[in-house]
Amino acid sequence: MKIAEIRSIPLLGETPIGGWAHEIEPSDNVHTLIEVESDEGLVGVGSVFTSAALVNASLELLRGYLLGESAIEPERVSEKLHQVTFWQGRGGAVTHAISGIDIALWDLLGKATGQPVGRLLGGIYRDKIKPYASVLFSWPPESFAEMLQGLVQRGFRAIKMGWGGFGLHDAARDETLVRTAREAVGDDITLMVDAGGSGDFWPNTYKWALETAHMLHDWGIYWFEEALRPDDIDGYVLLREHAPVKISACEVLTRRQSFIPWIERHAVDIVQPDCTKVGGLSESRRIAWMAYDYGVITVSHGWNTVVGLYADLHLAAAMPDARFVEYITPSAYMDNLSTEPPRLDAEGYLTIPTTPGLGLELDPEKVARYSRGIVTRFN
Ligand SMILES: [Mg+2]
Repeated sequence: MKIAEIRSIPLLGETPIGGWAHEIEPSDNVHTLIEVESDEGLVGVGSVFTSAALVNASLELLRGYLLGESAIEPERVSEKLHQVTFWQGRGGAVTHAISGIDIALWDLLGKATGQPVGRLLGGIYRDKIKPYASVLFSWPPESFAEMLQGLVQRGFRAIKMGWGGFGLHDAARDETLVRTAREAVGDDITLMVDAGGSGDFWPNTYKWALETAHMLHDWGIYWFEEALRPDDIDGYVLLREHAPVKISACEVLTRRQSFIPWIERHAVDIVQPDCTKVGGLSESRRIAWMAYDYGVITVSHGWNTVVGLYADLHLAAAMPDARFVEYITPSAYMDNLSTEPPRLDAEGYLTIPTTPGLGLELDPEKVARYSRGIVTRFN
């Protein structure tokens, strides 16, 4: 079975805010779907956390290496793409685009063999996983508390709060937000805090992070994410060693090789590769197993689309130590692209599909609505 066509589909119109200093608009396109179609008419779907303009430029570069290639050998084909693009776009937009192709090829392999992706990734350790609702900090505290209580009512048992000015004003404001959250949801809900250190010109360094980590510990916060700038590996090594809460980071890294020093040096307790940027499921799986061998937990960064979420579900199925998947909310691209929206069970878990491929059925009408019918074909 050969690759006959690759398609990119931009998502726009309902792009959720990111908490960034230079905030995006709903009409901005930062998420792009990829479809890979085989010469037998099977279609796999993937997702890329970058714009269709960059994806299309990358696909122009990659087209000759993809068309006519095997449609059912995701890891070899993705590795070939990594190896032949050493001089162009490596680690950036090209790696992001390869991520979507890789996820689509895993979906295709699953559909061609009648197996769920989790089994093909090595085997199924679990049939469900707890999603954490991923939301932005907001002010004032009263409406923030109300929003968090709404998430608990929807069935979420874990919530991560991030960005939204945390760490950018003063310690009292930060603690007010965290205290508000804990008092709003009670002690039974797992809470995490994401400082958003990959935001532009993040001002805080090690001492701030350590002091804040102690405050978060006092309120029972499960992990402290991106407390430092994304390249400050020495700061993270110190922080992980001295902080009383778990430290997580690495959502912006791409390629498995970039993770080696972070894992080998135990710079984090929890590493957060994003399969829609890092190189796809092939790369995420290898990072997760390397992390496992060093006693570092992997929790996928899933700040993207329902396709990214389903890819994360299958990686979680195939890892012995998986604990959570990220679930951005509210986001139309998470809740309203598939025929059936993801549903939490009574314990706040998502069931991992056992149907072929990712087990995800996109609704063509909804995809057309959120892409304004734009499709770019490479064949
Ligand atoms: Mg984050």
